Amino acid sequence: MQPRMVQPVGEVSTSGREPSSTEAPEEANIPSRRASPDLQVEREFRKWQLSIGYRVLARFGLDEGIAGHITARDAIEPTSFWTAPFGAYFGAVRSEDLLLVSEDGDVVEGDGPLNRAAFAIHSSVHRARPDVAGAVHAHGLYGKAFSSLHTELLPLTQDACAFYLDHGIHNEYSGVVFDSNEGEQIAAALGNAKAVILANHGHLTVGSSVGSAVWWFVTMERSMQAQLLAFAAGEPNVIDSETAAGTHAVVGPEDVGAFAFSALAKRIVFEQPDMSPPAGFLV
Ligand SMILES: [Zn+2]
Repeated sequence: MQPRMVQPVGEVSTSGREPSSTEAPEEANIPSRRASPDLQVEREFRKWQLSIGYRVLARFGLDEGIAGHITARDAIEPTSFWTAPFGAYFGAVRSEDLLLVSEDGDVVEGDGPLNRAAFAIHSSVHRARPDVAGAVHAHGLYGKAFSSLHTELLPLTQDACAFYLDHGIHNEYSGVVFDSNEGEQIAAALGNAKAVILANHGHLTVGSSVGSAVWWFVTMERSMQAQLLAFAAGEPNVIDSETAAGTHAVVGPEDVGAFAFSALAKRIVFEQPDMSPPAGFLV
C-alpha cells in the first residue's frame, strides 16, 4: 500500500535535501520536520517552538507563578540554550524575549534575569544528553501530586505507553535545585529516557526537538492524572509488558511526539495569530 502523502510540518521548502536518518518511517504516515542546514534559520525555528511551548503550558494550566522552565539548545552554539526570563508569564512569551545562556550560566543575549534553578537542572541535562534539543519542566498539579508517591508511571492506557520503560525517577527531594550536583543527579536519573519524575516536585521531559519535549510533558502530566484517577476509582488493569512495549514503539518515538506537538502549535496559532511561525515555515 502506498503511504499517504503528507506535507512537512516545518519548512515549506525541502528541495535539495535528503531525508534525515531521524525521519519517520514511511509506513508510519507521520510528517516530520527536517532540521534546516541553515543554522540561523534553525535557531529562529527553535526559538519560535520554545515560545509556543511556553504558551502551550499556560494554555493547559501547567504554569504555577514563576515555577517551571523550557530550554532549547542553540543551533549555532550547541553548548548554549535559550529560555524565557525568570518571572515571565508563560502565556505571553515571544521569541524576542528569550535569553541565550552559555554553559557557564552567563546571559549572552537578551535582557532579563536567569532562573538559577533552571540553569542548574537544564544545563546538566543538556550536557549529559547531546541528542536533546529541548527540555521541559513545570509544576503541573497532577505531576506534583504523582511525584509525591515515589512510584513509576504504569502502562494503564495507550497514551501512558509512551513512557513504558522510558522514564526514570529521582527519588530524593532535598530542596530547591540550585547546584549543579543535583542537576547531575537528575540527569543521571533521566539516563537515556524521555522523562524523569522528580520526587515531591514534578516531572521533566526531553526531546530531540523542542516540540516533542513539550508534547511529552503535556501527555505525561495527563497520564499521571489518569493513573491517579484510576487508582482513586478502583483497581485498574495494567497493560501487559509485551503489549505495552509494542504500543511504546508506536506512540513513543520522537517523530510522533513532534507531530503531536504540531497540533498543539496549531491551536496556539489559531487562538493567537500573532504567533504565526517564522517566514518560510508551516506550523
Ligand atoms: Zn521545579
